[in-house]
Amino acid sequence: MVNKGEKLKLDLHTHIWEASSFEKPSIDTAYKVINQCKKIGIDGIAITDHDHAHPELLKISFEYYKIFTKHFPNEIVVFPGREIELHMKHDYFQTYEVGEFMLPNGKLFRNYCHPGHPSQQIEINHIQSIEVNNSIHNWHINKNQVYELADKHNLILTEVSDAHEINDIGKNYIEIPLEDLLSSGIDLNKLQIQGWENHRSI
Ligand SMILES: [Zn+2]
Repeated sequence: MVNKGEKLKLDLHTHIWEASSFEKPSIDTAYKVINQCKKIGIDGIAITDHDHAHPELLKISFEYYKIFTKHFPNEIVVFPGREIELHMKHDYFQTYEVGEFMLPNGKLFRNYCHPGHPSQQIEINHIQSIEVNNSIHNWHINKNQVYELADKHNLILTEVSDAHEINDIGKNYIEIPLEDLLSSGIDLNKLQIQGWENHRSI
């Protein structure tokens, strides 16, 4: 269990389904993920596979969540979610990606992925954190710009692996008290975020 105020080492951007070559969520893959987390020394992950990979991606993500909690209780913290592509409000043809995942208090948390890619412009709209370090996309990220945006919009700065292979999970992570995430999550009842209608609680 997590003690109050204790900082957790979390990798909030991973593609574990893709890492299993899109196989049906299994105890075997979950076991490998846990082993990797223990080996590299992190406390948990957000599962953020690309939602265009499957029309019911969130269902897959929640299946994983259930496998982790049922078969490996209290081993690692897992936030089920997805990575989505969004269109900029001012220009439909410009897109950016957001990792969104559910927290244990039922709130949604949204992380701006690899700012600067695909669109060089950045739009902050119902975002709680922004990546300043992404193992595979660092060359897109203008760190000074990200620090300024984080300051302006009160965003948590994240460092993530964006792992597409099990061995890459946890190569980047942030250390943060769980309460800091919980207190900044979005209330899904107040905001219409598409796709979460059937996943209001975990
Ligand atoms: Zn990604």
